[in-house]
Amino acid sequence: MNSRKQPVIFCDFDGTITLSDNIVAIMKHFKPEGYEPIMEQILSHGISIREGVGQMFSLLPSSMKQEVTDFVLGQAGIRAGFEDFLGYLRDRDIPFYVTSGGIDFFVHPLLSPFNIPREHIYCNGADFSTDGITITWPTPCDEHCSNDCGMCKTTVMRQFPTSRYERILIGDSLTDFEGAKLADRVYSRARLTEKCQELGVNHTPFETFYDIRDDLIQREGE
Ligand code: MG
Ligand code: ZN
Repeated sequence: MNSRKQPVIFCDFDGTITLSDNIVAIMKHFKPEGYEPIMEQILSHGISIREGVGQMFSLLPSSMKQEVTDFVLGQAGIRAGFEDFLGYLRDRDIPFYVTSGGIDFFVHPLLSPFNIPREHIYCNGADFSTDGITITWPTPCDEHCSNDCGMCKTTVMRQFPTSRYERILIGDSLTDFEGAKLADRVYSRARLTEKCQELGVNHTPFETFYDIRDDLIQREGE
């Protein structure tokens, strides 16, 4: 570990902190009429994540707020070792940020047991005052990103210059890949591991947060 730089962690939420993707789970469970072609277009990069997620949620009536929220909170599982991992980071004064393309109405309640400062959680918002659910985007892409991410992970990371910070990214999917390219170190699983392999981006695969904690401890002497 480079002792002159402050390590800082950027951690994805869906499929990383949680065991699976909550937006996909919501859509597959409630099946709002017309969501499938939109989901396909997102996956084939025909439309941006921001456009696609916004369109899919607009198909769900705001009156279903409680039902949708109860469903997500009832089915989402947290990946093993998360709480101990946060404890380790607190012991070492390593700042931890959640960089999530998920939505506040499920991200905040699912994270509430873990005492992460609110300003360390980046995610999208939801407005239930309109007929269909309106997704809001408090952290859009800056001038360096043209992916129309919605919640732009690289925009958050750029606030931590490499001159002072050792940027560590944890993630599971293609939406983490641009951030992985900016990071000094990447902990990856699932599709992000494959993508890093394909394109030669340095990465350490993980399954649980114990794996990441143990790897960080091992590197402490470096
Ligand atoms: Mg993810
Ligand atoms: Zn972006």
